[in-house]
Amino acid sequence: MAIDPLPPLREVIATHGLSARKSLGQNFLLDLNLTAKIARTAGDLRDCDVLEIGPGPGGLTRGLLAEGARHVLAIEKDARCIPALEEIGAAYPGRLTILEGDALDIDPLAYLTPPIRIAANLPYNVGTELLVRWLTPPDWPPFWQSLTLMFQREVAERIVAQPGSKTYGRLAILAQWRCDAQIALSLPPQAFTPPPKVSSAVVHLSALPEPRFPADPKVLERVVAMAFNQRRKMLRAALKGLGPDIEDKLRAAGIDPTARAETVSLEAFCALSRILER
Ligand code: SAM
Repeated sequence: MAIDPLPPLREVIATHGLSARKSLGQNFLLDLNLTAKIARTAGDLRDCDVLEIGPGPGGLTRGLLAEGARHVLAIEKDARCIPALEEIGAAYPGRLTILEGDALDIDPLAYLTPPIRIAANLPYNVGTELLVRWLTPPDWPPFWQSLTLMFQREVAERIVAQPGSKTYGRLAILAQWRCDAQIALSLPPQAFTPPPKVSSAVVHLSALPEPRFPADPKVLERVVAMAFNQRRKMLRAALKGLGPDIEDKLRAAGIDPTARAETVSLEAFCALSRILER
């Protein structure tokens, strides 16, 4: 069943000459039932503004609007996509705002009213950079309630990884310290046009009202960056730049100084950060 009265995405792409550009990481989703399903994983959108980064020809945008988003702010770098997005705006009067530009340079807050959710299918490098920014705001809770983001499967696994796994690291700690994070959907390369080389997954993160364990964000970020930069080293060596008594401090936090970062829980990293703050 059609989710809206607009033309199929293949037709939109042909009409507006939107051949996919590698330089912009363009792999489009053309199945509107799939984009509506992704929109549903973002939660109840009816009373929310949704920030969408990289709408392209508008598959996910249409999914978000069809699922009832109160208002969508779509930021797209590729000027060729703007006329196609304007047609969507005309079908949903007053509910779509389109900004042309680089999402890394635009402050979207002036255009949004809380509660705000974020949804995107973005190129991998931009997606990770934005995710880290959204996870490390100056204050918590952040301006958004949830993030629903498409990533390469390998990146999605790094976000939800648990201690003891090869993918556990800085991204898992940043994400899970102040969010519930889960993989909501897995997608094979053939779900996209053109198909990327690897599988993808949609990760859904919802912001907790408060951090899971107390810690100063700057201290925790520094400790975790140092610990995982040299993930094969024992922590007493990887963290020796934090002072001559780092072994005592690790022990006081309940961490074996000979352990490696990938076995240390989020709770223990927070305990170590609190000891370092003293
Ligand atoms: N959301 C569409 C979909 O699911 O079919 C398009 C996804 S495509 C993987 C990524 C989109 O992000 C492209 O439309 C691309 O032009 C856009 N994009 C790439 N870098 C961007 C940036 N820095 N800021 C805003 N949009 C960007």
